[in-house]
Amino acid sequence: MALLTKAPKGTQDILPADSSTWQLIEDVLRSEAAVNGFSEIRTPVFEHTELFQRSVGETTDVVQKEMYTFLDKGNRSITLRPEGTAGAVRAMLEHALYNAGFPVKLYYLTSCYRYENTQKGRLREFHQFGAEVFGTASPVADAELITMVNSIFERLGLRNIQLELNSIGCPKCRAQYYAVLKDYFYQHKDQLCETCLGRLERNPMRILDCKSPVCSEIAANAPMMKDYLCDDCKEHFDSVQTLLTEAGVEFTINPMIVRGLDYYTRTVFEFVSNDLGAQSTVCGGGRYDGLVEEMGGAPTPALGYAIGLERLLMILEAQKVELPEVPKCEIYLASLGKEAQKKAFALTTTLRECSVFAECDICDRSLKAQMKYANKIGARYSVVIGEQEIANNKAKLKNMETGETSNISLDDKFVEEYIIRVTTDEDNEGMVHVDWGDEEEV
Ligand code: ATP
Ligand code: MG
Repeated sequence: MALLTKAPKGTQDILPADSSTWQLIEDVLRSEAAVNGFSEIRTPVFEHTELFQRSVGETTDVVQKEMYTFLDKGNRSITLRPEGTAGAVRAMLEHALYNAGFPVKLYYLTSCYRYENTQKGRLREFHQFGAEVFGTASPVADAELITMVNSIFERLGLRNIQLELNSIGCPKCRAQYYAVLKDYFYQHKDQLCETCLGRLERNPMRILDCKSPVCSEIAANAPMMKDYLCDDCKEHFDSVQTLLTEAGVEFTINPMIVRGLDYYTRTVFEFVSNDLGAQSTVCGGGRYDGLVEEMGGAPTPALGYAIGLERLLMILEAQKVELPEVPKCEIYLASLGKEAQKKAFALTTTLRECSVFAECDICDRSLKAQMKYANKIGARYSVVIGEQEIANNKAKLKNMETGETSNISLDDKFVEEYIIRVTTDEDNEGMVHVDWGDEEEV
């Protein structure tokens, strides 16, 4: 029975009390995407396993240990998406989105699946907001993308999120660096963990990213890519830094940040926060100039990032960021008797058609219980409809806070009279109506 009442390990329900915060964040993300010229792409939750093997890369933790992979009934190997870039690249190629001209700017807001050891900030089902730009090698695109992440955090009112930046060069300058790096790690071969031993030949740069204490200690003294960048890559990296500085985006250079696959190139970055504990990265991204070609497309420079939404929420919570209030019920229509209940329901429907948040009794409660409920949900106004009110076609509209009442017609004029009353009350009280989703409120 426990299986019926307990969600699978590493998943979490987003309950009504929290979903308004999710919606708020999603609104900010979507509007930031829009002003930066990104359009949404929605891809399937599962893809052919090969897609992730190829695009995320065979030497990554994601592909080696974390994918939800299974055979479907047609014997195809299927994988639940562990991240959003692969699907976006596949869809971009499949539907030839590049035909509309470059740059192609896409964003997604989706669930992702990784079979992980679950901890705080590390789930098996989690959510990412990501953006991808295809068709430009210009450092301005790197600066634009990073500035967009920065302004998302600013608009959400988050503080102390550090941007760490690095360049991992291009295949040309990396060849020389790999040779030096391999030499270095071979000298410490006996101490490296098993995973890193496997990376030594194929992808030595990923050792820099290993979380095991011994490997990180060895990695700390390893030669760094920044000292091996070719002139073009160096100039590109310098330009990104200058543009960010001009845009007022602060950063530090962290030579330990790598994406570590052949098709990842040049700029890589992470946004980290001290409010996250061990899982300190809230956003990771960078250039992947070789990936589109690797996946069968024409050579197309590209770049992207992904923000982990659960971790974003953890920072919001830790920093006690004030969020706009969830709208409360504006008017409760109480009723006494079946006829009155019908009338209340009809008027409620009319109010809702006019976008007024209205409620009536749907539980056949006593009048006393209905009024208690109206108080509980914080209704600003109430109306009680009984036999007499129906006969007179009039009822009392009560301001629940001040207790003041006024007459209101129970016919076609109901909504109009209601709105006039609300407006007069607000003018008298100098009240500002909270507009949910209003960006100024964030
Ligand atoms: P980590 O080093 O924390 O494992 P990663 O390098 O695997 O992160 P990416 O693949 O770059 O992460 O994903 C981008 C973002 O997605 C991360 O910065 C993080 O915010 C979020 N994320 C990744 N994996 C998880 C997870 N298992 N649970 C919650 N959020 C995650
Ligand atoms: Mg990971």
